[in-house]
Amino acid sequence: MTNDYYSVLGVGKNASIDDIKKAYRNLALKYHPDRNKSKDAEEKFKEINEAYAVLSDPEKRRQYDSYGPEQFNQRYSREDIFRDFNFEDIFRSMGINFDFGGAGFESSDDMLNNLFGFGGGRRQNMDIGNDILVHVTISLEDAARGTQKTVAIKHIKECPRCRGAGAEPGTGTVTCPTCKGGGQVKATTRTAFGIMQTISTCPKCGGRGKTFKEPCSECSGRGRVQEEEKVDMRIPKGVDSGMRLRLRGMGDYGRDRHGDAYVEVTVQKSKTFERRGDDIYVDVNIPFYLAALGGRVAVPTLNGEIEVPVSEGTQSGDKLTIEGKGMPRFNSNAYGDEVVSLIVDIPRRLSTEQRELMKKFAETDGGSYNDRKRKFGIF
Ligand SMILES: [Zn+2]
Ligand SMILES: [Zn+2]
Repeated sequence: MTNDYYSVLGVGKNASIDDIKKAYRNLALKYHPDRNKSKDAEEKFKEINEAYAVLSDPEKRRQYDSYGPEQFNQRYSREDIFRDFNFEDIFRSMGINFDFGGAGFESSDDMLNNLFGFGGGRRQNMDIGNDILVHVTISLEDAARGTQKTVAIKHIKECPRCRGAGAEPGTGTVTCPTCKGGGQVKATTRTAFGIMQTISTCPKCGGRGKTFKEPCSECSGRGRVQEEEKVDMRIPKGVDSGMRLRLRGMGDYGRDRHGDAYVEVTVQKSKTFERRGDDIYVDVNIPFYLAALGGRVAVPTLNGEIEVPVSEGTQSGDKLTIEGKGMPRFNSNAYGDEVVSLIVDIPRRLSTEQRELMKKFAETDGGSYNDRKRKFGIF
């Protein structure tokens, strides 16, 4: 499924909401499952609805425009995209008379479920895998450049031996004796209000309606096994500690839908740089004569050393800001700054020659200190 929503609707990036509505209306009429029964049409219908759900919502469209399709899809699941999306309302407002019953659906929600295969709490008895959380630690330099990481994800997978059926291959299945194949069981209870009947998923077959003669030797009939899988993933530049990246469908197995895996990133502290948001801070030592005379000094940055000017008369602790040499801003092309603190080194020992030179220098400077009524002596 393409996720260039603009090309799906055949409109330009600057299309007005009216253009988008018009394009969607034409395509929805052409492809809706009531009229167009081809398999391609269903796929196309999904695409145009997803595109419209995003581009017709100003906030989602803004995010899509600024993050691009890939990042947008990392942040928004299908459920997020279709939250508050109601075909009945939309079609009615567009003057499209769409009979859900005619297309084999009970309602707008039912159609969403059928087309996209998700529940979001809408449908009972769906088997949806759990989301899982994994952790990854990277260096600050890797966070600055973006990196590729292999993460080990321990999740529940469909059993490869029985393909999730739970039956030992070759032994076959039988109709579930508990629910007689219906997948649901009725329980009747007598209460103060009368006789209550509740319907629930069959506990014996888990709603499948079938059970097996002999349980699978690999999964003991559960149909699923725990497995560790190594996954190569891209970590985008600018990530910070605590951010979670989603790996779609990499969570636990579910018959109707797999869960997602969330990868929580920890960015290690650097020996050289201190990160504060998008800005980085670094201390650079310079000799006192460089501070006095001015000159140049090599400064570490996230992409190697660069030379920066030191102005004459620099005091210890003076700061220089190098614009754009900080961390990349997440999901943006902008960068923070690097702030350099210049620390002036005073020599702990002097050679005889240096001592003589310093004394000479001191004699030339005596006047200015006397002017300020400072009293001092040199040994
Ligand atoms: Zn199995
Ligand atoms: Zn059953």
